Amino acid sequence: MEKRNYRNTGAEISLLGFGCMRLPRIDPEKQDINFAQAQELIDMAYAQGVNYFDTAYMYHGGQSELFIGQALKKYPRDSFYLANKMPVWMAETKEDVDRIFQDQLKKCGVDYFDFYLCHSLNRGHWKRLREFGVYEYLSEQKKAGKIRQLGFSFHDKPDLMEEILQTYTWDFAQIQLNYLDWDMQNAKRQYELLEAHGLPCIVMEPVRGGALATLSPEAAALLKEADPTRSIASWALRYAASLPNVMTVLSGMSTPEQVQDNLQTMTPFVPLSQEETALVYRAARLYLESRTVPCTACRYCMDCPAGVDIPLMFQIFNRFKMTENGADARSAFAAAGEEKQAAHCVSCRKCTQHCPQLIDIPERLKEVEELARRVSR
Ligand code: SF4
Ligand code: SF4
Repeated sequence: MEKRNYRNTGAEISLLGFGCMRLPRIDPEKQDINFAQAQELIDMAYAQGVNYFDTAYMYHGGQSELFIGQALKKYPRDSFYLANKMPVWMAETKEDVDRIFQDQLKKCGVDYFDFYLCHSLNRGHWKRLREFGVYEYLSEQKKAGKIRQLGFSFHDKPDLMEEILQTYTWDFAQIQLNYLDWDMQNAKRQYELLEAHGLPCIVMEPVRGGALATLSPEAAALLKEADPTRSIASWALRYAASLPNVMTVLSGMSTPEQVQDNLQTMTPFVPLSQEETALVYRAARLYLESRTVPCTACRYCMDCPAGVDIPLMFQIFNRFKMTENGADARSAFAAAGEEKQAAHCVSCRKCTQHCPQLIDIPERLKEVEELARRVSR
C-alpha cells in the first residue's frame, strides 16, 4: 500500500482510506450495520496497509462511530488514524456542539481523534459554525490533545472556500474530487486553493457514490477496451490519487470484492498517464450524455416530509437510464412502496438546501415521476 507523508511530520497515511458510510447492512432497506461482515472488511484493509478510517456522527444513523470504534479496538491506537466530523447543522445551541463532540469520543471509544473535520461546509453551515464559535471550541479541544489535526469537508463554491481558508488556520481539508467533478463542481479550483494554502487534500466521493464504478455502457466500454484487466472503479481511484497534493482517497467500501479491487489499485499505485487522463475525460463526456441524476446516495436530504425516498427514486431512475429496462424499473418502483414515490413531492424544497451535489431535487423528481408513470402503463 502506497503511503503519503503528512506535511513532513513523519505520519505515513495510506493512499487508500476507508470511508465508513456505506458499510454492509443487515437489511438493505435499513441503516443497521452487519458488524461481522463489516469487521471482515476492516481487517482485510488493515492487514494490507490501510491505516486511515473516516466516520461521521450521522453515518448509518449514528452506528458507524460505534462500529469503527469497536472494529479498531484490537489494533494499537498509534497504528491507525481515525477521522470524525462535527455536523454543525445538528447543533441547535453552543452546548450541543460540546455534547456531540463528547458523545463522539465515547461512541468511538477513543481519547482523541487524529483528524477532525467541520462536516460538509456550505454557506449555511459556515454561518452557523461562526455563530456558535465551533472553530474556537474545536481549537480548544486540539490544545487539550483531543484533536490532532483540524480541518473541514467542503461542498460549495470556491469563493466560499477562499473565505474559509482566510478566516481560520486549518491543517487539511476534504473535497469531492473525481474526473466528473473536476470541471462540473469546480474540484480543480478547490484543489488548487488547498495546494496554494499548503493544505493536504483528502478526497471524498472518488467514484461519485458508485456512478463512476459502473458508468454508462458506452463509457464503460471505452475504459474496458483500453485495459480489460482493470475495473471501471479503479480508473476513478487512480485519477484522484495521481494528484500529488492528495493525501488519501476515501472509498466507502461495502463488499470484500470492492476492498480487494481498491487494494489492488493502490498496491503498487500507478498514476494515470496523460493518454489515460484524456481517456477518462472522454468517458466522462459519454457518461454525462446519459442524463443520469448525479446523486451519491448520501441521504443528507432525508427525511422528506412528504415521504419520498429521494435517493431510492434517483437510484431506480439512473439504473433505467443505464439499462433501458422498463420491467426492472417497474418492479423496483413497486418494491419501493407507494408512500415513497416521487409523485408525492410537493416541491417544498426543504431537501435542496442539504444536497451537496446541488441537485434540483423537485425538478429531477418530476422526471422520475414521469418514468414511473411510463413503465407502469
Ligand atoms: S421538495 Fe419534494 S422531495 Fe424535497 S423535501 Fe419537499 S416534498 Fe420532499
Ligand atoms: S439527492 Fe443529494 S442529498 Fe439526497 S442522497 Fe442524493 S446527493 Fe445526497
